[in-house]
Amino acid sequence: MSGKNVVLFGPPGAGKGTQAAKLRDLLSVPHISTGDMFRYHIKNNTELGKTAKEYSNQGKLVPDEVTIAMVRDRLSQKDVASGFLLDGFPRSVPQAEALDKILSDFKITLDHVVNIKVADDEIRSRLKKRATIEGRADDADPAVIQNRIDTYTSQSEPCLTYYRPKKIVRDIDGIGSIDEVFGRIEAVFKR
Ligand code: AMP
Repeated sequence: MSGKNVVLFGPPGAGKGTQAAKLRDLLSVPHISTGDMFRYHIKNNTELGKTAKEYSNQGKLVPDEVTIAMVRDRLSQKDVASGFLLDGFPRSVPQAEALDKILSDFKITLDHVVNIKVADDEIRSRLKKRATIEGRADDADPAVIQNRIDTYTSQSEPCLTYYRPKKIVRDIDGIGSIDEVFGRIEAVFKR
């Protein structure tokens, strides 16, 4: 199987969380979700959680200094030696550059950026549905949804331009059933 140092990339509502759980099981590597980490801190009302809440409630990115330090700390732990599945990071070019620096400090190379592609209209309808089912505060308000989409387009999507020359972006059509999409992702690791 090809390398197991993986970034899972895609717009909010692309199904990253669902696919991440399946991919973690396939690869047997830790699933590192910055969104989950922030939600944990928010739930426990830590200092980091208080900062994260201010931003995530508006559909904005949590400031880099907070986010990057949190990821560096997580990637310094022993369990990433077998690989990792980063979900929700990087979300901006400065974060992608910071990740390169962190990985090179730890002598790790990134093998794949799995890019789940879903069109804007489909994202909007999925996020609305998720707001009803999961009651996530950042999915409930149409203005917040729009903010998250705009943030993705202006800040996160340019990461792909950053990674393409490195030839590690694996484009995945995100339309279809959970198993169909996962089948496409699985194929990347069977090459
Ligand atoms: P997610 O569950 O990945 O959609 O993340 C939920 C929220 O957490 C986002 O809307 C952001 O406010 C925050 N967040 C997650 N990952 C990052 C990141 N890499 N940089 C900044 N903020 C993030």
